[in-house]
Amino acid sequence: MPEIYFDSASTTPLDKEVYKTYIDLLQRYFYNADSLYDKGVEVYRLLEKARSNIAKLLDVKSDEIIFTSGASEANSLAIKGLCMQKKKGHIVSSIMEHASVYNALRQMEKVFGINVTYLKPDKDGLITKEMVESAIRPDTFLVSLMAVNNEAGTIYDIKGISALIKKKTGILFHSDMTQALGKIEVDLKDVDMASFSAHKIHGLKGSGFFYRKKHIELEPLISGGQQEFGLRGGTENAITNIVLAKTLRKALEEREKRYEIVKELKEYCETKLKEIRGVKINKSANDIAYILNISTSLKSEVALNALNAKGIMVSTRSTCGSRENEPSRVLVALGIDDSEAIRLSFDYFNTKEEIDYFIETLKGILEKYGN
Ligand code: PMP
Repeated sequence: MPEIYFDSASTTPLDKEVYKTYIDLLQRYFYNADSLYDKGVEVYRLLEKARSNIAKLLDVKSDEIIFTSGASEANSLAIKGLCMQKKKGHIVSSIMEHASVYNALRQMEKVFGINVTYLKPDKDGLITKEMVESAIRPDTFLVSLMAVNNEAGTIYDIKGISALIKKKTGILFHSDMTQALGKIEVDLKDVDMASFSAHKIHGLKGSGFFYRKKHIELEPLISGGQQEFGLRGGTENAITNIVLAKTLRKALEEREKRYEIVKELKEYCETKLKEIRGVKINKSANDIAYILNISTSLKSEVALNALNAKGIMVSTRSTCGSRENEPSRVLVALGIDDSEAIRLSFDYFNTKEEIDYFIETLKGILEKYGN
């Protein structure tokens, strides 16, 4: 049976070079990066070199990069770290955010009584700067909006929203850029804080980073020592962080080439899907090539299991919410019947042959189980 992976928005296979470097360094450098003897200092230097390489790749300063366990932690640090400082006021965000933003905001509503406006997408699936503008209040201190939606694939107007926020004083702009990094252009000049994950760009799981402009004061979520500028205590996960620089470099170097491959695959898949009765392509006005959300006449679980039985891996929604019983708030907000939606997410290693196989399999499944 083939093994066809159409779920790269959920996680990606580890890059072979990153893997090799990781294994090699892991064996050689187990030392604590904060130890003061030579070997410890060597690890510290490698760690700081990686930080500065990441900063250079993104055109920011080294001390603006904080290594985290992934984007969920980075999102929590942005939102909770700031709310612990402010303790009151208003945040503008959206109903479309990943659970790590949405649930952090819900928690801040509960713990501090912070007010949050959750913007809903318009009929084109977009969150516009006009919506943000009309939601801003005199006590708004943060706008947190993702760059690319992980379930629908919508690309939001981060630049436009950034220009609006820059005109206002006292408001910080945070963006969860997890699904944008290595896929579309990411400009950190647009934001004050941003969150990233390594495992979405062929890096390690449990690895990511947080960007914040130097002047922004945040409370740490993990109290401890001096690590990560006092923003994240605990012995450095040094080798994981060191190989993140290589992961990022490769993802950025390959970005445009990979996008072209994926775009062609998505277009090919859409053309084929249009020929199948009972399949609807769920589009917004501006979608990323990497994610294709469709609805079929079958229950999502039935489709997912039947595809799985034929060696094809897809998602029904965000993987982080895959075991929840509630409908996906993201798909509901887009007017998509969550019970019939399937998310395909492609990557550069996928092929047209895989899509052909998927299409034939889907046709067979619809014939067998459809009504
Ligand atoms: N934000 C978005 C948009 C995501 O897609 C994900 C991964 N599902 C995350 C945050 C969380 O990333 P991590 O697994 O690194 O915590």
